[in-house]
Amino acid sequence: MKIENDTNYSKAEIRRFIAMARPPGTEIDLVIVRNAKPGRGGKGFAWTYSRKKKIRVTIPRKHSIMCREIWPARKAYLGMAIGSRDECLLMLLAHELRHLWQGQGTGSRARKVFSTEKPRPRKGMVYGARGRFSERDADAWALHRLRMYRRGELK
Ligand SMILES: [Zn+2]
Repeated sequence: MKIENDTNYSKAEIRRFIAMARPPGTEIDLVIVRNAKPGRGGKGFAWTYSRKKKIRVTIPRKHSIMCREIWPARKAYLGMAIGSRDECLLMLLAHELRHLWQGQGTGSRARKVFSTEKPRPRKGMVYGARGRFSERDADAWALHRLRMYRRGELK
């Protein structure tokens, strides 16, 4: 797994957060961690249709007010409150890594990516998940990890 990182987190710290955020068995080729523009909040992206297993998370600057933020429920997304930059990094990594996991179930890549048949949620996804790349499932995983992190259960 390669890491590209232009924030002031060390690579070792990023690796520690990836280990806490990663759904079991998820293959990862590349994780990109970037600083958001000044005053901007966090966001993430997963290349779910690429052969390369790759995600990018963009996190607020170190002392940005955007490190503490309420993410409102909208569309399929679950709402959540982010209390720190560490939590923001963990949430975004967990959400995007879950999308990679969603794409790595059984069946050929061609079938998963190019088939016109209705995509089915992968076994193990949360109730209410729709399609293979479910936002609700990705958020549910991320919230689950965030709660474990807050209880001190992720090392
Ligand atoms: Zn998503």
